[in-house]
Amino acid sequence: MLEHIGEDPKREGLVKTPMRAARAFEFMTQGYKKNVDDIVNGAIFTSDNDEMVIVKDIEMYSLCEHHLLPFFGKAHVGYIPKGKIIGLSKIARIVDMYARRLQVQENLTREIAQTLMKVTGALGVGVVIEARHLCMMMRGVEKQNSIMKTSCLLGAFRKEDSTRKEFLSLIS
Ligand code: ZN
Repeated sequence: MLEHIGEDPKREGLVKTPMRAARAFEFMTQGYKKNVDDIVNGAIFTSDNDEMVIVKDIEMYSLCEHHLLPFFGKAHVGYIPKGKIIGLSKIARIVDMYARRLQVQENLTREIAQTLMKVTGALGVGVVIEARHLCMMMRGVEKQNSIMKTSCLLGAFRKEDSTRKEFLSLIS
């Protein structure tokens, strides 16, 4: 890449850049080395709570798979338990596991929702992600203030109007 843009890879400031960049890239894509079982690690507990549980404003950093440029923002996750609840930090870890890969925001949103649905057996799951994409801000159309919002609603969040409204108002 350095040669391609006309840089001198041997100049002092750049000598170690390939290794540094490779390590940074490895860090930013560490989600490939994680799996759901290790992350959840038994933190599923019996509960008769059937009220909506929400974790909002989960910081999220990802890389777009088209340009390898960052997109970042916040994820909001909600679910309605059906006999089982999950440790709250595990929800943030599930977000990270999928975010720290090459992604498109739509798929990231769906993967988080489907995974949470699967591991908790919830009545419903809702995930909303709001993010800024550097590939739109620094290049292309150069829209610095646009925010992309995606959602994935499963089960009761999809079927029931009141549930969907409750979720969307609680995260707004
Ligand atoms: Zn992109």
